[in-house]
Amino acid sequence: MRPTGDVQEHQTATTGLFLRDDFPILQRMVHGVPLVYLDNAATTQKPTVVIEAEAAYYRTSNANVHRAIHTLGEEATRQYEQARATVASFIGSPAPEQCVFVRNATEALNLVAWAWGMDHLSSGDEILLTVMEHHSNLVPWQMVAKRTGARLRFLPLAPDGTLRLDALDTFLSERTKIVAFTHVSNVLGTITPVAEICRRAQRLGAITVVDAAQSVPHQPVDVTALGCDFLAFSAHKMYGPMGIGVLWGRLERLQEMEPLFGGGEMILRVGLESSTWNEVPYKFEAGTPNVAGAIGLAAAIDYLRGIGMEAIAGYESQLTEYALLRLRSVPGIEVYGPESPRGSLVAFNVPGVHPHDLSQFLDQQGIAIRAGHHCAQPLLKHLCVVATARASFAPYNTRADVDALVDALGRVGDFFGHVGS
Ligand code: PLP
Repeated sequence: MRPTGDVQEHQTATTGLFLRDDFPILQRMVHGVPLVYLDNAATTQKPTVVIEAEAAYYRTSNANVHRAIHTLGEEATRQYEQARATVASFIGSPAPEQCVFVRNATEALNLVAWAWGMDHLSSGDEILLTVMEHHSNLVPWQMVAKRTGARLRFLPLAPDGTLRLDALDTFLSERTKIVAFTHVSNVLGTITPVAEICRRAQRLGAITVVDAAQSVPHQPVDVTALGCDFLAFSAHKMYGPMGIGVLWGRLERLQEMEPLFGGGEMILRVGLESSTWNEVPYKFEAGTPNVAGAIGLAAAIDYLRGIGMEAIAGYESQLTEYALLRLRSVPGIEVYGPESPRGSLVAFNVPGVHPHDLSQFLDQQGIAIRAGHHCAQPLLKHLCVVATARASFAPYNTRADVDALVDALGRVGDFFGHVGS
């Protein structure tokens, strides 16, 4: 049972909101010291319940879904479809069929770009993105724009890293067919006002695509309240397995889309010359799906719900605030992104030390952070840097983890000998 009230407050300050014991990997040592894992925006660690859910499926019910008329096949199908229903209720989807299982957020965004974009865009149309998109929500649109003749436009950022919403009306017009944007920036931590953007875009007839890879794991997300047309996320960033993700879509949008991949499962009838398609979501799930992954994702969602997304958002927000405060005490450090509200991550640079060197130095002390361009090269160009370091948090992180990072940063100068020069 989880503790409550004062006891919980004391405990969470020292042990995290998730019980660290739930995560076997957090018990391991790296270079002889306990692991401090601060790379959660890249991927999160997995609790035992997720690892066991996948293993239990393979141990007891493994079979191909939707086809077999035998006990294992029926069990596998039931668990796979139950996982879809779990996802649907987690994100407020009116129906499970609106949740398409894909490999990851990248595949989900590509599916919309190719399957919706190719049929609805033509020369002169505009696709509105933002300057802070992850390559996953930029490159597919570049590819589709090149083939259709559509034009890419980019909503700018204010100096503090927030989106220039005041500029939205000058970018939106009858020519705008798609507005695709991130819910939470994986570099700046900027949180975009999704519902407002969707409302304003839809007034002009544009469809809206939300990259929720960095929001679904950290805060309550309800697709109905957001009012978007599509929403994409990955299981592995929310304590679930790698190789499974979700594209949620409005039913009429999914119905009007052609499938992207052809093959088994996605058809109704096949002739030698032509075929007809299965219904949504199956027409988008060609071939054998990642059944174990879907079951693992459902286990991760059950785990998150057991703690509560509001509680997770509140805990991470306090931890990030603490991290910002402590990081700013490091001499010369440059911290990127808005003050508040922001997602559970902080990108920064220590002058005179390349982020890759910094990451290697921290790794020697058991601290895992991210360093590089974070798949957001245009944003880094906008920030006039080629790389940054990034610490990103999960509810198993504690103030002690932040202290370990900041204390190690305090020793960087001695190690490299030229910090701040
Ligand atoms: N969008 C954002 C904002 C991300 O941070 C990431 C991954 O870091 C992605 C999309 C792509 O996620 P995936 O690699 O799981 O497809």
